[in-house]
Amino acid sequence: MALIVQKFGGTSVKDRTRIFNVARIVMDTRNAGNDVVVVVSAQGDTTDDLIAKAGEISINPSQREMDMLLATGEQISISLLAMALQELGVPAISLTGWQAGFVTDRAYTKARIKRLDTERVESELARNRVVVVAGFQGLNRSEDVTTLGRGGSDTSAVALAAALHADRCQIFTDVEGVFTADPRKIRKARKLKEITFDEMLELATSGAQVLNNRSVELAKKYNVELEVISSINPVPGTVVKEEADMEGMLIKGVAKDTNVAVISILGVPDVPGMSFKVFSLLGQRNINVDIILQSSGQDGHKDLIFTVPRDDGDNAVSILNTNSARFGGGKIILRKNIAKVSIVGAGMQSHAGVAATMFEALAAQNINIHMISTSEIKISVIIDEKQADRAVEAIHDAFIH
Ligand code: ADP
Ligand code: ASP
Ligand code: MG
Repeated sequence: MALIVQKFGGTSVKDRTRIFNVARIVMDTRNAGNDVVVVVSAQGDTTDDLIAKAGEISINPSQREMDMLLATGEQISISLLAMALQELGVPAISLTGWQAGFVTDRAYTKARIKRLDTERVESELARNRVVVVAGFQGLNRSEDVTTLGRGGSDTSAVALAAALHADRCQIFTDVEGVFTADPRKIRKARKLKEITFDEMLELATSGAQVLNNRSVELAKKYNVELEVISSINPVPGTVVKEEADMEGMLIKGVAKDTNVAVISILGVPDVPGMSFKVFSLLGQRNINVDIILQSSGQDGHKDLIFTVPRDDGDNAVSILNTNSARFGGGKIILRKNIAKVSIVGAGMQSHAGVAATMFEALAAQNINIHMISTSEIKISVIIDEKQADRAVEAIHDAFIH
């Protein structure tokens, strides 16, 4: 008998029909002789709707109260799915994140899992029940509800699979797997049979929301092989694992991220310690900095230009403005109408000219590049947001035939 963790995203449980569809997939897995732990997200657009509701009350709501609010979405779907399983004659019990043992740090709205105490889940499995766990949520040391950041149910599923030493971890979603680009936007996108953890991590971090990036980080750390599949069409999906077949492809995917803003600090004194002063301020507030450019010093001053998640942009600028005396009081500019477009693939390590092909595709579309960043398996460019979709299509055409 195997232990299987199955995660179902919001679209997969959006209404009665979809909930029973999920219940039947779970029932079939159990009837095949497996123990099943199910992780579910909030139904459909529930999380977005809850965020909008908070916005009707406050433009800057308390992060603690946001988590209290957002965690309710998943509680609706776990109870409904457990009821549906019971209707089908399958013994099932729903558990919130904290009942399932998720202990997190204190970072409200983007908490990290510190510990996972699986006794309750294991005892329910021992009682022969399907355990339905609310994704995306946990409890911190002060016993306050926390959430793991958007798309965090993927992380909950991988964490459970790792802690329970599950034999399989299946991520069911509304597309048939991981594609070379968002299949809802790029008609010619191709489904990948396999992709490595490293490539998937770069794609997820670059905006391919099919998997949350922290979930991939965790899967790599604990070597949890993931299977991304459709909850609607029972066809083979994509396997995410340590080593994958190259399928003769130079790059595995193109991704777009619009949750990006550029901050420029002009006229920073050109002396040691300035970058430390700026970035430690942001690090202390859990604001992730991605691409960093620094101009070469001139007349004793330099410019620092970097990207942050767009939803942290205003917060970052206000922190920097409050402390600007520490780094010379230079002018701080925030730009939000930009996007990051990235290509990812282990194949580029052994091939010259990949960057040139990407830049050529952009040039042919007359798209200006504001910033460039590269890693061994990724090249990202910052461009104007309104040109991003055209950029993705042109780059995809240039690489994927
Ligand atoms: P879920 O609710 O199941 O977690 P998400 O909406 O978070 O689903 O992620 C699935 C969506 O990710 C798809 O509907 C698709 O539009 C989008 N997506 C973006 N990039 C990719 C990609 N490279 N491959 C597959 N899907 C992608
Ligand atoms: N419901 C949460 C969200 O919409 C978590 C998830 O779906 O994974 O982000
Ligand atoms: Mg998701």
